[in-house]
Amino acid sequence: MAKIAFIGLGNMGGPMAGNLLKAGHQVTVFDLVDAAMDALVQQGAAKSSSALGALEGADTVVTMLPAGKHVAGLYLGDEGLIAKAAPNTLFLDCSTIDADTARRVGAAAAEQGLEMLDSPVSGGVKAAQAGTLAFMCGGTEAGFERGKKILEAMGKNIFLAGGHGAGQIAKICNNMLLAVHMIGTAEALQLGANNGLDPAVLSEIMLKSSGKNWSLETYNPYPGVMENVPASNDYKPGFMVQLMLKDLGLAMENSLLTQSSVPMGALARSLYASFSAKDGNAQRDFSAILEMFQS
Ligand code: NAD
Repeated sequence: MAKIAFIGLGNMGGPMAGNLLKAGHQVTVFDLVDAAMDALVQQGAAKSSSALGALEGADTVVTMLPAGKHVAGLYLGDEGLIAKAAPNTLFLDCSTIDADTARRVGAAAAEQGLEMLDSPVSGGVKAAQAGTLAFMCGGTEAGFERGKKILEAMGKNIFLAGGHGAGQIAKICNNMLLAVHMIGTAEALQLGANNGLDPAVLSEIMLKSSGKNWSLETYNPYPGVMENVPASNDYKPGFMVQLMLKDLGLAMENSLLTQSSVPMGALARSLYASFSAKDGNAQRDFSAILEMFQS
């Protein structure tokens, strides 16, 4: 069993650390918020008063932080995790961040002879709780073989996308496509409804036709068509509009850096930005974008 330092115990990190404990790993936690650590201590974790404290005696470090600046701040520099880690420490950063920072941190680890995987996740809080996240990793094959054994306690589909940063690129590509087909699905369903079609019947037809896609099949955005999806529960998240907007922002930043043409992604970002500017929408599920086509 691994000795794991887990840093960042928010909505996602908390349940992920819980699943590592359930799998029998020894886990020491650190978060800026004390209460977040206490919840894990009750499940058997040890608690540290600093990130470097949690690092002591650990062979693996898992981080789940808000953005690139938090990851760079924690990992880099003379007092950073990389500089202070014992030889052979494995780093798994599961945060969704810009690929450039992921590459920079991965390169700094490699310079010290340490393995690091950017391993952002697909799946929200429910998947984090259930241990069914998908991990998209970037790093070396040797790092991936080691990391996979740890990630298996938190997820069920674990991929190596390429070198450092490739996991983050896979994540932004996936979520940009998700935004595009969610919006397309919503506008098609509303067009049908505006013409008197029953959205449930239209969904059934499109599911057997060439319009079939994940948003239509497992996350239908029209209220009442499917049970157990946010659309049928007042668009309670699920996956919040503000998180989709963050991921689309990362995709747009990267498209500028790589001079990639992403017209559909840019339009999707613009529609989500406009939708999220209205009261309370930022915290609603991203399938609520359907309402944009109803007014
Ligand atoms: P969150 O804001 O709930 O949690 C982040 C945690 O990090 C907080 O508890 C905060 O106190 C802690 N933190 C910040 N800086 C720290 C530091 N220097 N040292 C220690 N702790 C620190 O965020 P979340 O929803 O858990 O998301 C985490 C990451 O996962 C983000 O990058 C997000 O984009 C990604 N993600 C989230 C979801 C989701 O549905 N929530 C889904 C997929 C991916």
